[in-house]
Amino acid sequence: MRHIAIIGSGPAGYYTAEAAQKRWGDDVRIDVFDMLPVPYGLIRTGVAPDHQSIKGVSRRYEQVALTDNVRFVGNVKVGEHVSVGELQSMYDALVVATGAPHDRKLGLPGEDLANVYGSAAFVGWYNGHPQFAALDPDLSGKHAVVIGMGNVALDVARILAKTEAEFTGSDIVAHALDLLRASKVRKITILGRRGPHQIMMTPKELGELMHLDRASPRVDKRDLPDEADDALLEPGLRKSVSHLRSFAAIPESIHGDKDIEIEIDFFASPVAFEGESTVRSVRVERTMVDAGRASGIGEFYDVPADLVVSCIGYHSAHIPDVPFDERAGRFANDEGRILPGLYCVGWARRGPSGTIGTNRPDGYSVIERIAEDMESGALGPGGKKGRAAFDALAETRGLDVVTFRDWKKIEEAEEAAARDGAPREKFVDVEAMIRARG
Ligand code: NAP
Repeated sequence: MRHIAIIGSGPAGYYTAEAAQKRWGDDVRIDVFDMLPVPYGLIRTGVAPDHQSIKGVSRRYEQVALTDNVRFVGNVKVGEHVSVGELQSMYDALVVATGAPHDRKLGLPGEDLANVYGSAAFVGWYNGHPQFAALDPDLSGKHAVVIGMGNVALDVARILAKTEAEFTGSDIVAHALDLLRASKVRKITILGRRGPHQIMMTPKELGELMHLDRASPRVDKRDLPDEADDALLEPGLRKSVSHLRSFAAIPESIHGDKDIEIEIDFFASPVAFEGESTVRSVRVERTMVDAGRASGIGEFYDVPADLVVSCIGYHSAHIPDVPFDERAGRFANDEGRILPGLYCVGWARRGPSGTIGTNRPDGYSVIERIAEDMESGALGPGGKKGRAAFDALAETRGLDVVTFRDWKKIEEAEEAAARDGAPREKFVDVEAMIRARG
């Protein structure tokens, strides 16, 4: 029997469990650990609450989780409740699938001012991540600035712009809906240091900005390159740029009919945040882009900002005893292998890029690495005890392990508490989750 422990129950974790099952069938036992009592990682706390169809992928992970050879081991923090070394002594292979939960910093003056947030915190807040549920951003000002030209920037801008009615059917948490209902934000400026041909935003997500009830997107047509140059772009990016062209063509009368403007400001690199104790503006330097690289041109201006959300990417969290590549912000690895017996997958392996589906081939390829190491003898003689050994240790330490069956009770309670039209009302603190399992 092979024993595999996966740390992290998001997409990367469950695709890896699925791949192990497909490879070894009844000859493998897989324990999927999570520090939270609830599974699915970024599907629950990262994917935007108004993108329910994307969240639907968790049904596939549930099929994996409900099989006999896979267990969910929730409410256990690896590195605190149990060490990596201890898990290695119990399982043949350990796979780190903990994603990239920390915000990358801009490293600019004023970044510590009140109401300047990174997207992990802000997205975690509106998605009810227990770590960020108490964030309480101040939405009483008129101007919000969102930094970055990726899909997370789009998520944040869209959530700030939506009316309460537009959240019908979403699982946005009550504390966020309450603040957004009273929000006074009327102008959202998305700052990108490069140009329209360098955006990371994907067409479907960008197109959504055209269909908001009370907000319209604005692009200055002088920022757009010659249309003929779009032909050189790969098809997805070309489609995104065609949306930008449509935004630039929106007549003033339409903007005038909307309460909120979402301005996309290109060639705009933030250099400082200004304000007394709370942010009031962002100092920006104009850039030019040459061979894909942005450089400042020495022209500066201020963008009013009562709220700033920086959406410039993430880095992984250290786990004691697991080698880390500081520069890349992820675990040091060679195609998913950290050391024989210790592997990583998903954002923990490759950094914060790609779609949820990108994690599937990642999971399958890490299982191939493990199979190679098993076959070559690099993992030692075997005979490890797997889950039986962990259960004994959990008992000795008095760990309060949350099982998948417990999670189903928590889920039932969340569904029962849903407001009209919503799929669930999430518990946003760990104690409440644990109480809900009965
Ligand atoms: P991203 O796609 O990598 O975008 C990050 C943005 O931040 C880029 O525009 C980048 O500009 C900018 N940036 C980085 N450092 C900067 C700096 N120092 N100053 C100014 N701007 C800076 O990252 P993301 O938006 O966080 O998304 C992460 C991943 O999740 C992506 O793969 C994304 O597609 C995925 N995601 C998907 C969805 C969806 O499908 N609906 C939703 C959310 C997230 P440069 O290009 O100039 O570096």
